[in-house]
Amino acid sequence: MTELIVVPCAHCATLNRIPSDKRQAQPQCGACKQKIFIAEAFDLSQATFAKQSKGDVPLLVDVWASWCGPCRQFAPTFSQAAEQLTTACRFGKLDSEAHPALSGELGIRSIPSLLLFRNGKEVARQSGALPLSQLLSWLKQYGIHN
Ligand code: ZN
Repeated sequence: MTELIVVPCAHCATLNRIPSDKRQAQPQCGACKQKIFIAEAFDLSQATFAKQSKGDVPLLVDVWASWCGPCRQFAPTFSQAAEQLTTACRFGKLDSEAHPALSGELGIRSIPSLLLFRNGKEVARQSGALPLSQLLSWLKQYGIHN
């Protein structure tokens, strides 16, 4: 029997249950009918964070702010990783200025910060930007690769 995994929809955060071997088949969300996995980073908010951090496919959070130069420089790298690892990981952006309460709860002291979540729990954290190759090898340590 195929293993079922839980994956929040990138669009509406509904938790979907899908066969793990159907990840690549562009599964649709049961609620909004859009594709569960998208090849790009999506925005997180106070309202969606709890759901988006759940599930079996990890969520990498980029905590950033528009005034932060290193954050803006890192954004294309984060997008490239999202393109390369579309069904292995999910890539969420948290605007720390727009969501100060959530950033506080997460204990963010500097930006950019990268936080990795699986099944609603933080499993790793990295302060500061990384070049793409280092970001990919950092994720690989946590079993995230194509
Ligand atoms: Zn949806």
